[in-house]
Amino acid sequence: MDCLKHFSTVGLAGDLHAALGGELERHGLRAEQVLPFVITCREPAAARCSAPLRRAWPELIDCSTFGGLMLAGPRTVASSLRWAGASVPAFVLLAHAGSSADGARLEPSCAARDLHEYLETEGVDVRIDSEDPERCLFRRELLPALCWGERPDAEALSRLVREHNRKRVEQLVARIPDARRYIVLEGTTASVAGTEYICDAAAHLHDGGATHPIDLPTRAA
Ligand SMILES: [Zn+2]
Repeated sequence: MDCLKHFSTVGLAGDLHAALGGELERHGLRAEQVLPFVITCREPAAARCSAPLRRAWPELIDCSTFGGLMLAGPRTVASSLRWAGASVPAFVLLAHAGSSADGARLEPSCAARDLHEYLETEGVDVRIDSEDPERCLFRRELLPALCWGERPDAEALSRLVREHNRKRVEQLVARIPDARRYIVLEGTTASVAGTEYICDAAAHLHDGGATHPIDLPTRAA
């Protein structure tokens, strides 16, 4: 668990997801009004994190991508809400940090490793290669936030992914006419010795101009 000392708080992924439904009820939201959009890394360890959420919302929309980058747009979200008969999107935005097998240190996640290799071998080329458009998109979205020559470590890259995703949700909800209320749960997933954690988790209910914090079971890292 030493590797998680880079973060301020840590919680068990299962506990966080299991708490969400009850917390939303406390804010006057029934499960059927809410539709979660999960954006996490597609690697199995990271994806396992969202299992309790899927039990509570079997029809949740999984928009997970390589590295947990939010790529869904307003049309995707609006049509999914219509399909589900829900009015409140809950964006679960989880960046991915890797850790060593013994849990002693953070290591570059899939996306960080790929980004490092790319910067070392290919230089900066942000064209979309049709052989692997998703990885190209990841690089293209993240590269503008990097300084020249910089190699972000696992924690720095997860911070960049979180900033990107947060901005994207703000842009997206501004373009959905009926999304007066929406929820954002964000954090960084890390799998340490077979257990999934969510680090620096924060969740808020946005309601018109007001923002209400949602309590999550976390503790100091
Ligand atoms: Zn990953």
